[in-house]
Amino acid sequence: MSPSVISSLTSSTNGKLIVIKVGTTTLMGPDGPDLALIGRLGDVLAQLAAARHRCVLVTSGAVGTGRWRLKLSGRPKSIPEKQAAAAVGQGILMHLYERVLAERGLTSAQLLLTRADLGDRQRYVNASNTLQVLLAANPPVVPIINENDSVAIEELKFGDNDTLSALVASLVDADALYILSDVDGLYEADPRVVPTARRLERVEAITPEIEALAGGSGSDLGTGGMATKVAAARIATSCGIPLVLMSGRRPEDVLASLAGEPVGTTFAAGPNRLEGRKRWLAFSGQVGGKLSLDAGAVRAVREQGKSLLPAGIRKVAGEFEPGALVALLDPEGHEVARGLVNYSSEELVRIRGHQSAEIEGVLGYKHYDEAIHRNNLVTT
Ligand code: GLU
Repeated sequence: MSPSVISSLTSSTNGKLIVIKVGTTTLMGPDGPDLALIGRLGDVLAQLAAARHRCVLVTSGAVGTGRWRLKLSGRPKSIPEKQAAAAVGQGILMHLYERVLAERGLTSAQLLLTRADLGDRQRYVNASNTLQVLLAANPPVVPIINENDSVAIEELKFGDNDTLSALVASLVDADALYILSDVDGLYEADPRVVPTARRLERVEAITPEIEALAGGSGSDLGTGGMATKVAAARIATSCGIPLVLMSGRRPEDVLASLAGEPVGTTFAAGPNRLEGRKRWLAFSGQVGGKLSLDAGAVRAVREQGKSLLPAGIRKVAGEFEPGALVALLDPEGHEVARGLVNYSSEELVRIRGHQSAEIEGVLGYKHYDEAIHRNNLVTT
């Protein structure tokens, strides 16, 4: 890992806030949860706590553990079966973590989140407040987070804990996110196909070439493949948080990485550190509609940091009220930004394409000149 990423983690005497995500394939042995690995993970968490770092653990493995306990084999047959397995497995997993952490003088806390929880601003802030209290506790508490699989609606799921871990890192404003996986980094080609492929030590920016390297899912048990890891890296790095993708077989490497040794692949933090509310707008908030923009409006929003005026809106999709979060699309249909609207979908349909001076003539009133004020807008 480059010194510039790690210096921020090692040069200060203050502890850092670290999110560690562990995947299903890493956690599950041939016969249920890998107790030895969970013990080693506990050792790492204890050493981090002793060094005054604070940690959040995002864990998968509820479905896998539940299926093992229920003696289910093969692929899950239905969504309710998976959700039932998660209900069985989550408790077993937490029991294991609780015991392992308590033996090392640490307290654990469980948070089960859904996309709807993080998509709703108030619930998002509630989760943030809870985490802040937990992370300030002394002796240390390790919040342990998973998706609330048993109640999450399939279409609205994170689906993979890679995305969840990046949103959690953003939520707590972590200093680094470590993804412990069955792959030990991002390779210049799929190492299962090209054995000589080299691992990339550092990714400065998530370019289309990097996304192309990510391909599809790599294992049978876990949900996320490399694509979800790169998507997670996009979220984390946009928030100014470096993401290290490394082997879950060697959890101790988190300590090595913090000491400045090269481990896995580091996705370097982006130059702009989005502030908290804009992070929510960009990555967590639930989108209620879409606005298609003309090229001039795309330029104004993207390159000049301007507000979106009704004149630049060509099409309005979805039904929403003022204050809703909407996605802004360029003329090719690619999302370029998100923001909170000043007008309802019904009003925007009427004023789209009009100059702001004409709004009152069209609607009979004018609350704002802008469809979306730049303070409520973030490019994605
Ligand atoms: N939440 C799922 C579980 O605990 C894991 C999702 C994933 O594979 O990332 O089993």
